[in-house]
Amino acid sequence: MPESGSMVIIIGDGLGDWPVPDLADETPLEAAPTPNLDRLALEGENGLMDPIAPGIRAGSDTAHLAILGFDPYQYYTGRGPFEALGIGMDVRRGDICFRVNFATVDADLRVTDRRAGRITNGTAQLAAVLNGLEHDGCTFLFKESVAHRAALIIRGSRLGAGVSDADPHVEGASPLIAHGEDDASRRTAELVNWFVMRSHALLRDHPVNQEREARGLPQANIALPRGAGGAPDLPTFEEKYGITGAMVVEVGLVKGIGKYLGMEVIDVPEAHGDLTTDEIAMAKAVVDALTRHPFVLCNLKCPDVAGHDGDAQAKLQAVEKLDRLAGYVREHAAPNTYLAITGDHSTPVLAGDHTGEPLPLVIWGPHVRPDQVAACGERPAARGSLHRTRGTDLLKLLMSLTLRAEKFGA
Ligand code: ZN
Ligand code: ZN
Repeated sequence: MPESGSMVIIIGDGLGDWPVPDLADETPLEAAPTPNLDRLALEGENGLMDPIAPGIRAGSDTAHLAILGFDPYQYYTGRGPFEALGIGMDVRRGDICFRVNFATVDADLRVTDRRAGRITNGTAQLAAVLNGLEHDGCTFLFKESVAHRAALIIRGSRLGAGVSDADPHVEGASPLIAHGEDDASRRTAELVNWFVMRSHALLRDHPVNQEREARGLPQANIALPRGAGGAPDLPTFEEKYGITGAMVVEVGLVKGIGKYLGMEVIDVPEAHGDLTTDEIAMAKAVVDALTRHPFVLCNLKCPDVAGHDGDAQAKLQAVEKLDRLAGYVREHAAPNTYLAITGDHSTPVLAGDHTGEPLPLVIWGPHVRPDQVAACGERPAARGSLHRTRGTDLLKLLMSLTLRAEKFGA
């Protein structure tokens, strides 16, 4: 057998789209000038890919799990752990994770504002007094996210994730006493209840809240956990595939997944998660990572941002960035490198959110069998030889093409 090749998956986040009347009823991917992607489509194998399954509206987290070969129905343990991973917390196997709101309670401990006036300033200082608390042999790790949001990790032994919410989800009610479904979860629920009261004691006289009170703003004087989830019981990327991998991505959530899988997560200072990203700097990081790892996943965020903004012109520019990124990698990667270009879900500009349509997929490399497709796009891809695949099949296809798949049978 010849030597094994390398693999790159390049994902345009939210790449898929619908025909747009302002673009002569083409999708942004079809309408944008994409000489590099068109060449890859012409020389490669094309098809459509459901990131999870037909008609499933994927999040970036579940879609990336699937594209990395981990069935999200088996491994996705709720938003708590993924929120924590997404804001760069060090989630470890065995941890119990929660999403948290900073909220406002009155003197009778009734919730008067579940979002503490959508507080934006000072949450890092508030989080600092909650981070590192210890109780009953367990450690509480706490970090602020965007606005009133935060994440909590409880780390210790004999913990369970079957814990109800402390957040009452309505205003006027008191924080709920968390309950556990089993012994380990009951112990965890008691820890949550302790934490909620402790958070009130530590936050109510905090200087950030004194200042908010002076300005007539609702105080962020309690932390209310919800959405308990155990850290996913995932093998590392290397355990699963027997090779190492790297990520060059812009989304915190996807970076978190990469770190959790033990992949090298490469920081590109010129990547900002929007149209100001230097896509060539990202492409160079991919080519460089290929000198150390046989697999690299790259995610360019800006198509998703444009889709959420409903901005067709911005999505065209995002697609052109993806085109230049892919072109650079094709030109500079070693000759036995296989590229797959696709998206993680559709974020049509006319929808402004994720939808369930499949994504165009092209696989390009030395020994692929070119099909009849000569341009990239949702509709051209539908006529290709890969037909309709799923995210969880993509790495299997690449492992096979690069002669890394194990033989099934004699
Ligand atoms: Zn996404
Ligand atoms: Zn999105």
